[in-house]
Amino acid sequence: MKIDLITLFPEMCEAVLGESIIGRAQKSEAIEIKCHQLRDYAFDKHRRVDDTVYGGGMGMLLKCEPIALCYEAICEQRGTKPYFIYMSPQAKPLTQDKLKELSEKENICVLAGHYEGVDQRIIDEFIDEEVSIGDYVLTGGELPALVFIDALSRLAPGVLSNDECFTEESHYNGLLEYPQYTKPQSFRGLEVPPVLYSGDHRKVDRWRYEHSLINTAKKRPDMLENRELSDDEKRIIQEALD
Ligand code: SAM
Repeated sequence: MKIDLITLFPEMCEAVLGESIIGRAQKSEAIEIKCHQLRDYAFDKHRRVDDTVYGGGMGMLLKCEPIALCYEAICEQRGTKPYFIYMSPQAKPLTQDKLKELSEKENICVLAGHYEGVDQRIIDEFIDEEVSIGDYVLTGGELPALVFIDALSRLAPGVLSNDECFTEESHYNGLLEYPQYTKPQSFRGLEVPPVLYSGDHRKVDRWRYEHSLINTAKKRPDMLENRELSDDEKRIIQEALD
């Protein structure tokens, strides 16, 4: 997976993306991420990336030309047209299913907005999809872009080790993950459920599945609303909630 990020703060983004799992994944070439300084594509007399809004009002908007030139330069560098995403609070909030869908794309370009956002003509003519990280507004698109790139990158083959596998994690299969424990077995009188160190893998799997269901029913019942539950699953949930 190759990701290009267009931003006014490439150093900030590179610093975050260069650490930990995503940093390691870049070194091992499981993913490639490049941050591009939008200002490098502002070629007018004053090298401006933003301007006032037609019709009046507070704030500034990112101008069309630098974004268009930067995206076109990325297309040339990549030899293809990356799927172009604009981080925006106006989109439907991001879900794991959407991430799964987007992780199928080989080339993605992300635009982090700033100020009041970007000129609508960029959204209409260049952007393939808007992505929001939630129904609230941040000052800029860098943090949303970093959240999105982190969540997307970990789905790319070779980014997570087996120990860090994502397929059992919350949201991957429409359920939250089961509770987990580490050593010691007993902490201030609080015990790890014995089945987890019984060595019986079938029983462990069963326990985990049941507790995934229960966890979801307790914390996010909305996630079960459109799921077909068997009588057995309904009973497990009912007993836990009683
Ligand atoms: N005026 C815009 C509006 O009301 O829709 C909000 C602009 S916001 C202050 C500046 C930039 O932050 C946006 O262009 C976008 O890139 C980013 N941003 C803010 N909140 C976001 C969110 N929840 N998800 C994704 N991007 C967000």
